[in-house]
Amino acid sequence: MRYHAILLMFLLVVGCITMIGCNPKSLVSTSQEIDIGRQASQQVESQYRVVNDPQLNSLVNNLGQALVSCSDRQDIKYTFKILDIKEVNAFSLPGGWIYVNKGLIDETRGNNDQLAGVIAHEIGHVAARHHAAQMGREVQANILIGTLTKGDVTTLASIAANFTLLRWSRKQEYEADKLGIEEMWRCRNKGDAYNAQGLVDFFGTLEAKSKKDPSKFEQALSTHPVTSERTKRAQQYLNDLKSGKAKA
Ligand SMILES: [Zn+2]
Repeated sequence: MRYHAILLMFLLVVGCITMIGCNPKSLVSTSQEIDIGRQASQQVESQYRVVNDPQLNSLVNNLGQALVSCSDRQDIKYTFKILDIKEVNAFSLPGGWIYVNKGLIDETRGNNDQLAGVIAHEIGHVAARHHAAQMGREVQANILIGTLTKGDVTTLASIAANFTLLRWSRKQEYEADKLGIEEMWRCRNKGDAYNAQGLVDFFGTLEAKSKKDPSKFEQALSTHPVTSERTKRAQQYLNDLKSGKAKA
């Protein structure tokens, strides 16, 4: 009996994961997503120092929560934190944890449109549930058979590392940009820092400044590659929203 159950699970896992058209997102429920995100966030925060500057924290949190209120995905609670990392970057974990590097805040100081643009893009990754699609097959298999080991240090470390240095596909980047621009567009009357042009302008900042100081931007460019096609698409979508050709 036990043998048959194991065999059935094996076939289910292998079948579902290798089968064309089996959407990995559907393998992960929202509560599993939150569970994995929570565990990965503990791992991240044991590796990097969280910045406890009340002014900076409220800046990031206020921007983030306002953008969330204009997002398509409201079924989870979002948490925004600043990490003491000099490189200019931000990343997200499944289930709504979003981390902004101190380097990004320093770089965009005085230009909250750009900071909000990057945060909106990260919310876009969470809203589109891109993490589930990016999880390794091993993790997906574990989730599917319900054996994602709580407290398994090696597994958790690899999950957290996967998320912090995840290389998104071009398609996922376009989608996160689109969702980010939509959030900012819907939020445009909420204050000064929700001009979606900020996200497009940030691509220009990245490209120009990375030539002068490559090490500071290397991580951002490898995890969220900026191409002229990406900039063009984002600008076009924003123009379409402004002209009424697209609706958000
Ligand atoms: Zn991205």
